[in-house]
Amino acid sequence: MQVVCLDLEGVLVPEIWIAFADRTGIAEFRRTTRDEPDYDKLMQYRLALLRRHGLKLADIQAVIAGMSPLPGAREFLDELRTRYQVIILSDTFYEFADPLMQQLGRPTLFCHRLLIDEQGFVAGYRLRQPDQKRHAVIALQGLNYRVLAAGDSYNDTAMLTAADAGFLMHAPPNIVAEFPQFPLNDSYPQLLASIDAAAARLPG
Ligand SMILES: [Mg+2]
Repeated sequence: MQVVCLDLEGVLVPEIWIAFADRTGIAEFRRTTRDEPDYDKLMQYRLALLRRHGLKLADIQAVIAGMSPLPGAREFLDELRTRYQVIILSDTFYEFADPLMQQLGRPTLFCHRLLIDEQGFVAGYRLRQPDQKRHAVIALQGLNYRVLAAGDSYNDTAMLTAADAGFLMHAPPNIVAEFPQFPLNDSYPQLLASIDAAAARLPG
């Protein structure tokens, strides 16, 4: 049995924080996991920025409500789900993801939660589990699944390494250069073909 694990932002939907930076005009929010490998450092930086600008969860949700999946993402995911069980492994938060998951046909999503104070400000965040993407792959393998995975950033490489087959999708040049062991895919048809080819090579 095979399971496909996909990253969300950059693979199926735009980077939420970059959209937020564009909407608010605060360029510092453009920093993502593509630039900063240390996720906690990145999140503390974002939370401090939100506080400094007096921005609440509702402000972020208003931006996300206006976002759509990347062109072709829904069709790709629908087709993929006819062939494999699919789990989205994301370092986003349930509080952010819902409008986008609705547009993607509500695939299974494993991610994290935000801590919101009484005034509606983001007070912190709670990782469901550190290094959750890698742990999810290992847990699925423990259930006797073969795992195929695709992602675009530093926070995906442990997942890709643990998987039986790992692919980069829409990855920026620095990630491609640093992780040449993961074949790069730039379109959904290419990724679907890569997954099918790897799945055919793996034990059923
Ligand atoms: Mg990503």
